[in-house]
Amino acid sequence: MTTTDAPGTRSALLAASSIVVLWLASPEPTRPQPFPADDACTLFSGAALISFAGDEVDAPTPDQDVLVCGTRIRAVGPSGSLEVPEGATRVDASGKVLMPGLFDGHVHLFAPLDLDLNLAWGVTGVRNLFGNAFALNTRAQIEQGAIVGPRFFTAGPIVDGDPPIWPGSDAVTTAEAARETVAKQAEAGYDFVKVYSLLRPDPFFAAIEAAHERGLMAGGHVPGSVPLEDATARGMDFIEHLTGFLPAAQRDDSPYLALTPDERRATDRYEITRLQVEGFDPEKLPTVAGWMVEHGVWNIPTFVVIERITASAAQKQEWVETHPQMRYVSGPTLSFWNPNNDFRLQDVSEEQLAARARSAALHAPIVKALHEAGAELMLGTDTPNPFVFPGYSVHEELQRFVEAGLTPWQALRAATVQPARFLGQEEVFGRVAPGLEADLLLLDANPLEAIENTERVAGVMTRGRWLDRAALDAKLAAVAKAYGKE
Ligand SMILES: [Zn+2]
Repeated sequence: MTTTDAPGTRSALLAASSIVVLWLASPEPTRPQPFPADDACTLFSGAALISFAGDEVDAPTPDQDVLVCGTRIRAVGPSGSLEVPEGATRVDASGKVLMPGLFDGHVHLFAPLDLDLNLAWGVTGVRNLFGNAFALNTRAQIEQGAIVGPRFFTAGPIVDGDPPIWPGSDAVTTAEAARETVAKQAEAGYDFVKVYSLLRPDPFFAAIEAAHERGLMAGGHVPGSVPLEDATARGMDFIEHLTGFLPAAQRDDSPYLALTPDERRATDRYEITRLQVEGFDPEKLPTVAGWMVEHGVWNIPTFVVIERITASAAQKQEWVETHPQMRYVSGPTLSFWNPNNDFRLQDVSEEQLAARARSAALHAPIVKALHEAGAELMLGTDTPNPFVFPGYSVHEELQRFVEAGLTPWQALRAATVQPARFLGQEEVFGRVAPGLEADLLLLDANPLEAIENTERVAGVMTRGRWLDRAALDAKLAAVAKAYGKE
């Protein structure tokens, strides 16, 4: 989750109760569908292929066949060149584009039906940034094939200061407590450690060290108490929302830098943002991006969530009334999206929101600088924060990457190959190549020509299980029905 403000107790409780309600009120996802047997094969024939198996291309490779048996890709080659087992299911992919399934590198799973929405939009993998027993159970059920969902990786509970911003976090104030918490999370089987905004430097650095000792990555928000340069030099592995970048890229005579630490603490955070925007120095970005390259730090910019959370109340109301994706938003989620119920937006004026929106606009030059420096980027949405739609917003985020200056191929790479590399699973998923698991997205139009074409989903394969357009439509209709929006 992203935050714009620290909570009061009452509003924090409100947020906690809305999350719990979301969870309890959510209907179950699709019935069990075990993985296909090794001799159950599917042939995609005549596809234009974007495999991500090699260097950048500006057009898909025409007339390719892809053979999938069981959960894996068995062979890839020119049309008609593959030996196809008898009885294979055939999918005519002529006139269509085949590519790896997409990955959302920043989600929060509260509603099980979000898994179906992700698949319906071609998202075959997600990284959950606030774990709990429900997330561990979901991961296990997906791995066993007991439920059909995108491959699922999860952080433990957020590790934050005390009191934490979000209820349900693991609050720590000492290095020792941070180490114990990380040990407990590693023991529970979480995939990585999420650190957060209110950590003091000692427990922050201790959490990172303890995670590394157990072979886990640690990252999240750069805490307000730690400069970005120190966070990267001391081993923070990944950064969400470009936290810490704005204060790190200031002109030498910036009004923000002129404030003493005490003055900064005493100043309203929106005024701080305004001063940071005023003092922003794009000339500093190559240096800042250089820290990321030097220390191998990954960034997950999350354009869409910042844009949505800083939108005006009028704009939010318009989305509620007219956005086509509102069909797939449950009552409890909508109530969580209501600015009146969001502790991050209490007592925030439209003027303050506008100041924050100006800082959000700086995401594009920062991402461009990171890309040009060769820093690691991964796509993530932070759904279901307000008006960040499960599955669908991955496509919006792709468009923002392209607007920031990446080519469509490079943007798509941030949602396919890059997450697999981040997770050390590049031989498991993220490309269309023999031996990899079959997470595939079939499109009606070429996304290298126009990135918006990723929205034209013709079908999705999730570890060998094929969902054609009719199956995806049935999933969408079932979600709308479950949420009372037939
Ligand atoms: Zn988040």
